[in-house]
This record gives sequence, C-alpha cells and structure tokens, in this order.
Amino acid sequence: MNKINFVIFAVLLILLAACGGQKTSTETSPAGNAGLSVVATTSIVGDVVAQVGGEYIDLKVLLPVGTDPHSYSPTPQDAAMLADADVVFANGAGLESFLGTLLESAGATDKLVTVSDGITLLEGTGDAHGHGADPHTWTDPNNVKIWVNNIQKALSTADSKNATVYQSNADTYLKQLDELDGWIRGQVALIPEGKRSLVTDHMEQGYFAQEYGFNMVGALIPGYSTLSEPAAKDLAAIEDAIRSLGVTAVFVGNTVNPNLAERVAVDTGTQLVYIYSGSLSPADGEAATYLDYMRYNVNAIVGALK
Ligand SMILES: [Zn+2]
Repeated sequence: MNKINFVIFAVLLILLAACGGQKTSTETSPAGNAGLSVVATTSIVGDVVAQVGGEYIDLKVLLPVGTDPHSYSPTPQDAAMLADADVVFANGAGLESFLGTLLESAGATDKLVTVSDGITLLEGTGDAHGHGADPHTWTDPNNVKIWVNNIQKALSTADSKNATVYQSNADTYLKQLDELDGWIRGQVALIPEGKRSLVTDHMEQGYFAQEYGFNMVGALIPGYSTLSEPAAKDLAAIEDAIRSLGVTAVFVGNTVNPNLAERVAVDTGTQLVYIYSGSLSPADGEAATYLDYMRYNVNAIVGALK
C-alpha cells in the first residue's frame, strides 16, 4: 500500500467509525437501527402509522400508491411481508376485503390491529345493495384521532421501551389533526349553505359530509365499495337528483375508473372534479401525506362549490 492509498484508507476508516457511532447513539432503538417491523395496508394508514412510529419502526406499505383498496388482489410477496412483520395495521370496517385470507395464509392473524376500532360506523345509508358499513373513516380527521390512539397503544404494547416516544409523537400529530379540522371548518364556511352537496363516484365521503354539514346526495356506484356495477335505474336516479338539487360538480376518486363519472357529467352538464380517495399521491406529489391529502380534497371541493 503506497502512502496516498493509506491516507485514503485511514480517512475511510474514520468515516465508517463516525457513521457507526451515530447509529448506536439511538440508544432506545431496539437493534440499533432496525426497529419494530410494521406493515400497513394502504398508503393512508401507512402515513398515520409513520407519524406515530417515526424512526423507531421499520414500516412497509402493502398496497402500491394509486391502488384501489376495494379491489386489490394480494401477491405471494405480500404474504411473506406479513409473515415477517411484528404488527400489521389495517383500516378495517370491510375496506380490505382481501385481508382475512391473506393473514391466514401468512399465519399472521394475531398481528392484526384495526385502526378504525372504536369509530361509530355509518351503516346502510345510500347503499342500494343494502349491506355493510362505510369503511372510509379517514374522510373525517376526528376519526383519524381514534386511529392515532389505536396505533399508539399497539406500538407501545409491541415495543414498550419506546412507549414515551410513541406517546409524544401521537400528541404532536393529534394537535395537527385538530388544526386540520379547524382549517376545514373555515374553508367549508366559504361555500354557500345551499351548495354544500356532494355527489361522488362511490359512497366515500359519508364521514366528511356528516362532520362538516354536507348533503351526501349520492354516488354513481350506490355503495361503499367500487366493486359493484350501477344499474341503469340507479344512474337515472342520481342524474335526476343532480338536476333537481342543482348540483354543479361530481367528485371522482383517484383510484377508480372515471368513465362512468365522465358520462354523468356530460349528461347533466356538471363539472367533473378529481379528488384523492383510497390512496395518497406518490411521495413527490401534492397529496403525499394524509394532511396534504385532506387539504388537497377540501381545496378541490371548496373551489368547485363556492
Ligand atoms: Zn372506497
């Protein structure tokens, strides 16, 4: 080894030692770097879990960004991911219809934490097919506060050493959710009361409508899932409602096929407005976190209706 190479080698050793030193300084992280192994089903659940778990968890999200959670088909890799996890967080309330079978095949049923546990679910309203509850609990940030408490409890149970960190992260995020709630109220106040009517692609804004005083007129797919096909009479009924109530916009989620909504918008002369529904945007997009997702949707709704 010549002198110059030796100097480079020595500098590299010092840099490596410095990096190693930084990692082990995180004393409360279980294995120095790899924290609790956590899987979340959707990107929305994943973001809220990340807010509470921070750097103390190793988080993987099952559904790729832009995927419709109602119709997702899991892969063998998904089963492996669940088998390796310490905790699995799901929205629940029937959103992830694939989950029961997947958890069983992965032997991971006892790892499941349902973040919507404890939320009073909307049932039956507007569902012409007469079954199930509304799984879209996150459209009201006050429900997401219940998610945060469920997530904080589950992480603290699985990793009690870091319970104070999870509690402190949860408290910080709960404040941000309260701020979001206040901001939404201010924005909704800009819409004249008579125009606070929502028509969506499927029945996905029920909790938002209930909390912020919107009339949930109906949906093109008259159910809580995107899986059913609307009958001709369902479409005729929603078009009649749009005309008779003077509805000016139809809101379409980012994870559904927009063809039906385009047709209804043309038939009724309403504006078609895209919002985010079952997924966040990619990381470099406009709705990469739950807070940004809600701000984006509220801005779109207020912009179209005020
Ligand atoms: Zn949905």
